[in-house]
Amino acid sequence: MELIRANAEWLYLIGAILFILTLRGLSGPKTAITGNRYGMIAMAIAVLTTFFVADQPVIWMIVTAMILGGIVGIARAKTVPMTQMPETVALMHSLVGLSAVLIAIAAILHNNHLVNLFYINEASLLAAGVQHAHMNKVHLFELFVGCFVGAITFTASVFAYGKLAAKKWAKTISGTWVKPVQAILFIAMLICGFYFFSTGNMPSFWAMTILALIFGWVWIAPVGGGDMPVVVSLLNSFSGWAAAGIGFTLENNMLIVAGSLVGSSGAILSYIMCKAMNRNIINVLFGGAMGSTAQSNSVVTGEQIQRNYRSGSADDAGFLMSNADSVVIVPGYGMAQGRAQNAVKELANLLKEQGVRVRFAIHPVAGRMPGHMNVLLAEADVPYEDILEMDEINADFPATDVVLVIGANDVVNPAAKDDPSSPIYGMPILEAHKARTILVIKRSMATGYAGLDNDLFYNEKTMMVFGDAKKVVEDMTKAINGTGH
Ligand code: NDP
Repeated sequence: MELIRANAEWLYLIGAILFILTLRGLSGPKTAITGNRYGMIAMAIAVLTTFFVADQPVIWMIVTAMILGGIVGIARAKTVPMTQMPETVALMHSLVGLSAVLIAIAAILHNNHLVNLFYINEASLLAAGVQHAHMNKVHLFELFVGCFVGAITFTASVFAYGKLAAKKWAKTISGTWVKPVQAILFIAMLICGFYFFSTGNMPSFWAMTILALIFGWVWIAPVGGGDMPVVVSLLNSFSGWAAAGIGFTLENNMLIVAGSLVGSSGAILSYIMCKAMNRNIINVLFGGAMGSTAQSNSVVTGEQIQRNYRSGSADDAGFLMSNADSVVIVPGYGMAQGRAQNAVKELANLLKEQGVRVRFAIHPVAGRMPGHMNVLLAEADVPYEDILEMDEINADFPATDVVLVIGANDVVNPAAKDDPSSPIYGMPILEAHKARTILVIKRSMATGYAGLDNDLFYNEKTMMVFGDAKKVVEDMTKAINGTGH
């Protein structure tokens, strides 16, 4: 125990290096498992070292909290379906935000040298000496920033959770009043925070915290469904900065490093996602709804009834694919929803055995979380070399015989390229419409996440194959097995 205490900073350094190696590992599917292991070891080092370094820890409280947290975490990890991962992640971000707020409050109420700060005045500063005064200010600043970033992260993440889990209470708000209200809340929050920072006045601290909690909600509630992926990754970044803020308050270097890594990687991911959707981050966060389901459904439903589309059976589709030289599979949210990944892998293997060149095309925001499709395909043991990112595959579509779209909709919507009036205009898409034949598996002509109709389904080269993704893919495999090449 003494040994750990004496070498705590070294252990934290090893943990920090392992966290950096974790991120490096997670950047590619081949190294992701090793990356995850580094992360587990780093987290174990961080938790154990902090446990032994703590000054007079209330052991029963810490151990009880760890056991309870561990039970809830393991139970959730074992039962959560892949389709509910995004909202689970959002919920976890909310917990990081909430802990930042609670730790800031606890530090203020219980830490003696901080309690003294609330009586800061000219005389006490002089009595304390310049250096102490400087420390006081630094602590106050950490508390003020850590607390309001944590409070915003908390309520914004709870809203993101509700929105992704389609909860009734997570209603998108809109109207001319929204932006002025956001601005007033934000400015009032900053004024209270600065007042607390400069005087140590407690009521202004409570006011700042409450305003930040309200602001988090009002800030995210107008954001449209199509922009939610960016919001989730931005909240990931915020939760990291909030954790780093707690690290300063607790003077824990490990937490500062880990929080900063999460904060900066989340910010980079948000940037990459904005680029993938051709969106501007400011526009996402303050520009109102993009692809709001309620708004667009009414526009499209009438149209759907009149437009003609072609549909066929799994047998027809199987025949087309087994006679093709090249097939590109485009998975989307429907593959996740239908848990069809293993069936899809079997279909791909069968086609390959028959000499067909089969590849998978992944859009950065296909599904409901970044990397959603990659995770599912990895789970089904699809070889990494068969999985291509949007930029790698798009040029190949015109020379592709058959593209098989499985439960994807928005990410293959040509309106993003052709229709300047479309809410998703400018978003890069997988250019499936350029293939020679297009097969689309979905259950109906319903819209996707952004609530928009999709011209691809009415394209004369397209054949719709209706049904649940898993069942249809299994039927295709059976059909190919029966017919041969
Ligand atoms: P979409 O949500 O646009 O479309 C999915 C389609 O799958 C639906 O049209 C649905 O049609 C069909 N489907 C659903 N269940 C099944 C099933 N069991 N079997 C067969 N088909 C099914 O998915 P995309 O992947 O194309 O696009 C992702 C969307 O989600 C984008 O708008 C993106 O911005 C958004 N988003 C992405 C996140 C991310 O980080 N990846 C996070 C949050 C949102 P039908 O009902 O007719 O079957």
